[in-house]
Amino acid sequence: VASAEKDQVLQAVQVAVHIRPLILQERIQGCKECVSPVPNEPQVQLGSHVFTFDHVYGSAASPPSHIFEECVAPLVDGLFHGYNATVLAYGQASTGSGKTYTMGTGGNAEGIIRRVMETLFRKIEKLKDKADFQLRVSFIEILKEEIHDLLDTNPSQTVKQEPFVGVFGVKPCSPGKPPILIRETTGGGITLSSVTEIDVTNLHEMSSCLEQGSAFRATGSTNMNTHSSRSHAIFTITMEQRRRPDPLVGSPEDDYLSAKLHLVDLAGSERAKRTGTDGLRFKEGVHINKGLLALGNVISALGDDKKRKEGGHVPYRDSKLTRLLQDSLGGNSRTVMIACVSPADSNAEETLNTLKYANRAR
Ligand code: ADP
Ligand code: MG
Repeated sequence: VASAEKDQVLQAVQVAVHIRPLILQERIQGCKECVSPVPNEPQVQLGSHVFTFDHVYGSAASPPSHIFEECVAPLVDGLFHGYNATVLAYGQASTGSGKTYTMGTGGNAEGIIRRVMETLFRKIEKLKDKADFQLRVSFIEILKEEIHDLLDTNPSQTVKQEPFVGVFGVKPCSPGKPPILIRETTGGGITLSSVTEIDVTNLHEMSSCLEQGSAFRATGSTNMNTHSSRSHAIFTITMEQRRRPDPLVGSPEDDYLSAKLHLVDLAGSERAKRTGTDGLRFKEGVHINKGLLALGNVISALGDDKKRKEGGHVPYRDSKLTRLLQDSLGGNSRTVMIACVSPADSNAEETLNTLKYANRAR
């Protein structure tokens, strides 16, 4: 039992680093690679700094195609046993670090989400004689500590509105639409009020949800960030499983299981001072940091053995992001953080920040 318990603890938060190749723009600028994986070790070297993680991807020996099998497939397995899970892509956005590419929120076939979907439906196909499965997806983004529904096709919300502060400073939401609120059930589960959840029965339907939501992620740009880099995008797959009674053995013990997997393309990690200088954009920068800051604190509290054993405080309530992920981080849930970095020397400072943040999560 002790060792099984230890495995569970060790698995609670896994941190991987994904070093993407130099992109064309960086080559044209004459950038040199300044980040290197240490051979045969899950380590990354940047200048005189060496950091150790659970996995490092981006070398011939450890290509990114291994990320899914090593880090994410076990989480998909866990869903079938009722364990919630979260996969997070973290990294700078100004010169893309590969968050969207790695997660597949842009729809690329090698992306994690695509592999998750394929694996999920393949497993369900194998198990369909033993159980009935129901799948739902939601796709939201958190921008400025507000939750937006990316699968809501109702135009009353899809129309972009001018920022407006109503009487008493209360900001009205879209007409006829209640704001999306985070609720906690008596069992400690987290749900969202009035969010669109789409029932899906096959890979095609699930991919359509991903595509629709990705396309809907509004665009508007600042001097260095696009909208999508200021918001956290969260694609959530919920799976309910009703196991059929075995004619020989009778009803299975866990005849109903429900679990969800959050796949998160986090906001860019640049600090507020480098975001736009006008008031509005600056506020967004601060809010983004609120989510990422809280996430860093939560994950580092979860990774702190001593704190966890003493039932120490995990500051989930400090941001919408951590509150929303509360029932899928820590406890019986599994979490994988993938820190995405550019190898270019022009990004060395941001890359160092990313590696430090990810290192703290271990
Ligand atoms: P982010 O979401 O962090 O802003 P992107 O995922 O959009 O960054 O990646 C930035 C650019 O780098 C894109 O042009 C993308 O195609 C490219 N890229 C990212 N990761 C890889 C990779 N592993 N291999 C090849 N190209 C990549
Ligand atoms: Mg992106």
